[in-house]
Amino acid sequence: FILGCRGTLGGAEYLKYKDPKQPLNARINDLLKRMTLAEKIGQMSQIERENATADVLKTYFIGSVLSGGGSVPAPQASIETWVNMVNGMQKAALATRLGIPIIYGIDAVHGHSNVYKATVFPHNVGLGATRDPALVKKIGAATALEVRATGIPYVFAPCVAVCRDPRWGRCYESYSEDPKLVKEMTEIIPGLQGDIPANSRKGVPFVAGKRNVAACAKHYVGDGGTYKGINENNTIISQHGLLSIHMPPYYSAVIKGVSTVMVSFSSWNGVKMHANHYLVTDFLKNKLRFRGFVISDWQGIDRITSPPHANYSYSIQAGIHAGIDMVMIPFTYTEFIKDLTYQVQNNVIPMSRINDAVRRILRVKFTVGLFENPFADPSLADQLGKKEHRDLAREAVRKSLVLLKNGKSTNDPMLPLPKKAKKILVAGSHADNLGYQCGGWTITWQGLSGNNNTIGTTVLDAVKSTVDPSTKVIFSENPDPEFVKQNMFSYAIVVVGEHPYAETEGDNLNLTIPYPGPTVIQNVCSSIKCVVIIISGRPLVIKPYIGMIDSLVAAWLPGTEGQGVADVLFGDYGFSGKLSRTWFKSVEQLPMNFDDPHYDPLFPYGFGLTTMPSKAN
Ligand code: BGC
Repeated sequence: FILGCRGTLGGAEYLKYKDPKQPLNARINDLLKRMTLAEKIGQMSQIERENATADVLKTYFIGSVLSGGGSVPAPQASIETWVNMVNGMQKAALATRLGIPIIYGIDAVHGHSNVYKATVFPHNVGLGATRDPALVKKIGAATALEVRATGIPYVFAPCVAVCRDPRWGRCYESYSEDPKLVKEMTEIIPGLQGDIPANSRKGVPFVAGKRNVAACAKHYVGDGGTYKGINENNTIISQHGLLSIHMPPYYSAVIKGVSTVMVSFSSWNGVKMHANHYLVTDFLKNKLRFRGFVISDWQGIDRITSPPHANYSYSIQAGIHAGIDMVMIPFTYTEFIKDLTYQVQNNVIPMSRINDAVRRILRVKFTVGLFENPFADPSLADQLGKKEHRDLAREAVRKSLVLLKNGKSTNDPMLPLPKKAKKILVAGSHADNLGYQCGGWTITWQGLSGNNNTIGTTVLDAVKSTVDPSTKVIFSENPDPEFVKQNMFSYAIVVVGEHPYAETEGDNLNLTIPYPGPTVIQNVCSSIKCVVIIISGRPLVIKPYIGMIDSLVAAWLPGTEGQGVADVLFGDYGFSGKLSRTWFKSVEQLPMNFDDPHYDPLFPYGFGLTTMPSKAN
């Protein structure tokens, strides 16, 4: 018999698409040829975990499932629970006529942060401050291993937004206001996906193997440039501005073989990105030659109209025509499938557009190796939250800290702090709170408060384990001014900042330090020598207090490894972080970025004092 035709091999039909020895395109073509319209439209549908019963997966030939922010089996679910869940869905998908595996996706935006016990790395704003793309690449590789440990092959990361206004609730998901730095940080993509071979064709997705995951550059494009930083709003900018400020990260993401690109909820000059044929198809797919798949954002197609879902048929037509290949959470998926089927059958949407979408989705699935390895690899089970990853996160924390002020005069630096002291005060709501340290997109979509939801080290834990055993550490969240005065503290560490948020919930026009932060600063710093550490996703209003503060550190949202803060504070390592964002004097100045003609910051972009590791300690 001749291989490649529909011969039988040992009784079973030879299926070219299942043969890993066949070239990628031959496999895609063979499979596409066999698919019905229902099977194709199913591949284009990504549904939520809660809806993904075996029955639904099989009936609608669903192509993908997701855990949207925090949509997890249970907040403290074990790794086995995750693996069984994803494997179970995969079994259902493989039991369909053609046995096309699903691709399960999750928001692992700073480590596998939806999962209990995972290593939670600093959010991107802090990684930008490290100025260390090689470190960020290692974080990508570690994240991929932790994600794979739970049986998941696909992450909705990195966010390559160039945040131009800190009032935006997603500013911390952005590496920087500087397109050049964001572009450099796309090194996380070869970290997540593996190094792309030198002879690869530009734009073709690449995933090295079972220890890597498919990545997703998001949100295409201009998400960080909206009016007043309002989430999902309008980005008013010339084409030149869009291409030079918001597009650069996509150029490098595509060259680095990113598997998928997520479209932004926002509009460009009044046109919803989800309906923008020029930018999605003409530019990304045709000009940049991106060959992976384009995914919508969560019900992003529904939101093409205002109010959302006002004319679903129209939205589907506009979104699919624009070039969206996979639709995240079509609402409802049954309505989406029915409507899209009707539109294809009636030539409103051409079959060629559907074939293009499915071809791209299959290309990623083949590239990820899902046909050969559809299930979780049990040998990766010990990757979640392992020591090497926590050490890497701790290193990232150390390098992300930006020292903004060091002592009241330059001749008299306060930091590094002595480990040996009689009695020190640790104060503030953020000193002993892992949830606050991690911020949004951690365990739940909006993040959490407290220390019970994940495993890690708070700043207080870290201080206690770093100081000399003879040093007495007193902790008070909001100490009484009299108490501060009466106790003869050698110095104080005050940790204040923002409370966790994600997306629109984080939009904020005031950017003040939340209560009681300012009171704690005043009560403590007016009496004793203090270092203030700000835990936040962005610069906050600090100018009114700067005079009374001896030393000031921006710690961003450092994640689970608070030990990194103490490592630098007490001089085991030096401060080296540089601002990835401009620190404004007042919110009236916003938006204000490093390239503005009337630049008048409190601390300029790139600012950061340094210290040497201390031998004395
Ligand atoms: C966000 C995306 C995210 C998706 C899935 C959306 O609301 O904009 O960044 O990947 O939800 O959770």
